[in-house]
Amino acid sequence: MLRFKALDDSFNRRPQEVVPPKDKISDYFGEHVFNYASMKQYLSAEAFKGLMHSIDSGSRLSRSLSNQIASAMKAWAMSKGATHYTHWFQPLTGRTAEKHDAFYTPLNDGSSFESFDGDQLVQQEPDASSLPSGGIRNTFEARGYTAWDPTSPAFILGKTLCIPTIFVSYTGESLDYKMPLLRSLHVLDKAATDVCQYFDKNITKVTATLGWEQEYFLVDSSLIEARPDLALTGRTLFGHSSSKDQQLSDHYFGSIPERALAFMKDFEQESLRLGIPVTTRHNEVAPNQFECAPVFEECNLAVDHNQLLMDLMEKVAKRHNFNVLLHEKPFKGLNGSGKHNNWSLSANSSKHKNLLAPGNTPKTNLRFLTFLVNTIKAVKEYDDYIRSTVASAGNDHRLGAHEAPPAILSIFIGSQLTRVLNDIEKKVKGEALTPDEKTELKLNIGKIPEILLDNTDRNRTSPFAFTGNKFEFRAVGSTANCAEPMTALNAAMTKQLIDFKKSVDELISSGKKKDDAIFEVLRDYIIDSKKILFEGNGYGEEWVKEAEKRGLKNIPTSDKAMDLGASDKVVELLSSLDIMTKREVLARNEISHEGYKMKLQIESRVMADMALNHIIPVALKYQNSLIDSVRGLKDIYGLDYKNCSGDLLCIIEEISERVGRVRQFVHEMTEERKKANALESPREQSVAYTENVKSYFSKIRYEVDKLEMIVDNADWPLPKYRELLFTR
Ligand code: ADP
Ligand code: MG
Repeated sequence: MLRFKALDDSFNRRPQEVVPPKDKISDYFGEHVFNYASMKQYLSAEAFKGLMHSIDSGSRLSRSLSNQIASAMKAWAMSKGATHYTHWFQPLTGRTAEKHDAFYTPLNDGSSFESFDGDQLVQQEPDASSLPSGGIRNTFEARGYTAWDPTSPAFILGKTLCIPTIFVSYTGESLDYKMPLLRSLHVLDKAATDVCQYFDKNITKVTATLGWEQEYFLVDSSLIEARPDLALTGRTLFGHSSSKDQQLSDHYFGSIPERALAFMKDFEQESLRLGIPVTTRHNEVAPNQFECAPVFEECNLAVDHNQLLMDLMEKVAKRHNFNVLLHEKPFKGLNGSGKHNNWSLSANSSKHKNLLAPGNTPKTNLRFLTFLVNTIKAVKEYDDYIRSTVASAGNDHRLGAHEAPPAILSIFIGSQLTRVLNDIEKKVKGEALTPDEKTELKLNIGKIPEILLDNTDRNRTSPFAFTGNKFEFRAVGSTANCAEPMTALNAAMTKQLIDFKKSVDELISSGKKKDDAIFEVLRDYIIDSKKILFEGNGYGEEWVKEAEKRGLKNIPTSDKAMDLGASDKVVELLSSLDIMTKREVLARNEISHEGYKMKLQIESRVMADMALNHIIPVALKYQNSLIDSVRGLKDIYGLDYKNCSGDLLCIIEEISERVGRVRQFVHEMTEERKKANALESPREQSVAYTENVKSYFSKIRYEVDKLEMIVDNADWPLPKYRELLFTR
């Protein structure tokens, strides 16, 4: 007998048939995107050239050109059945926002026509005044604008043409994730191109690349309806562990369950139509946990694609009676979900584009080492800032929990590269290299590709690992918008490359040869960055101690970690590079505190509701049935009843004690919440929530999870872990 109709439903569900795509993937890939091919088809050659120029140089489009593009976009979208358009943007809520407008314009004579002009394409005023602004829009001028980002192509979702845009205030301050990201990419391009000039004069543009890996859980929708915690907070606030979960690692890379596979095929098809180049799917460590990854792309586009994918997954899952859980930690005791951000730099020269891939000549390898060492130094300089970008209520459950990297930022490069760096440190001494030393060094760096080819040592416990031709930032949470960590990395790297060039140029003008100057600056950086390089086990307790000795910060909770992104040093970095002003940085910090506190507030409320309305009544009902049994025994055995009901009396007592503690803790937690809510600033509130409210979560949960093991299975009101995780 199953305990719920919901469970019954979920057991009986069959994989949904997916309509197979008509042809090969290449026949429908990107068909819902206004990509270069469609642009060429719908735009005059001159307009196309003008648009390409504007994308490459970041220059403004003329009004006439934007009108032509709008009209081409409309014609293309209508040919695909679109009736509406929207400016699609990424406000600081973390998800995407859209406000649809119809193409048609009514005329006086009662007829109408379809219209969409350059003004509507380029700029909109969606108002959207309820989206977070951190005080930026509380002034007399509260208007918010969206403005077209021509570097990310428009696409069709359903019957709506979606135009990727930035979201800014009337006064020009960014209110979204995209604008700072675009600015960081712009300055990084310039700084990296300048450094590339030492090695290859043909390089005129450098882009950052991002390949994300999205982890998620699937749970049958009908079970979610019976779990208010999953429905409202995205994670289970209660639930005793299942006797079997991930101990056997039998889910990891196992054969994908049929229903999950049907869902994957479906959302992958939709993604591919939207030009999201998804290629990889597999089971993850926890039961019902999966991963999806695309081919990497230019960073801004990759961020848009990830935001779009998360949205698509949730929509498509509904068709399959699944809910996608993107939360970083839906289940206690099981691995949570992350979103590895693979990051590199790509130059526009014809050969050997990836700046973090070793080449096969000493010259390309010196370029490789330059970018490698500069990345290490950049992360060392701004480790706090980078750490702050992955702070979130959900990620607090993951970082440092021995399943994901710790909250301490360190870099893994592998033993082979460590040897190469040690070599440079030893051989380069400040004075010019002797010809012999130079040859030896060059010979050594000439061997890098061979070394890396056999280099299979990978360290899964490192938050920031070099993996052969890119860095993999593994601390990002599964719900995160990648733009935030990417902006930080790009900004830190830009500043680093500017400093590097300055130091090298100074040495060159003091008479040093270019290669000697580069080696000398790299050597200084290698020495200076040592404390952040760590090859050992990032999950071990020893590392926590060792990191403290090295002076690396370990800030496990978001209330404190978020502030690392608003320090004077970060404000100076971002404002000097024109990525964000001090006001923007501080506003964002306030928004993060607000959002974080609200998440904890919702969890605390849901927990109290569930404990008082769902759990306690059921526990008392079961206790009453035991009391009835004891009474029955008394009827039968008279005063001897105590001899045969000892156990029952113990259980009755245990239920009373546990219920009593739950009620008491809920009461105390509610009082703490009231106190926290009365505090002045979002920062004080988020600290109070972390220190005084959140501490009750585990206390209440402990009692409730014990009750789950006592109360009759048939009466327990919530689907259990084994049911949530093992129903297919
Ligand atoms: P895993 O971490 O699961 O072992 P990989 O290390 O192979 O997987 O990482 C795969 C991811 O790295 C993919 O998303 C891929 O697109 C991305 N990737 C590969 N090369 C680059 C690059 N040059 N820049 C950015 N991302 C890259
Ligand atoms: Mg990975």
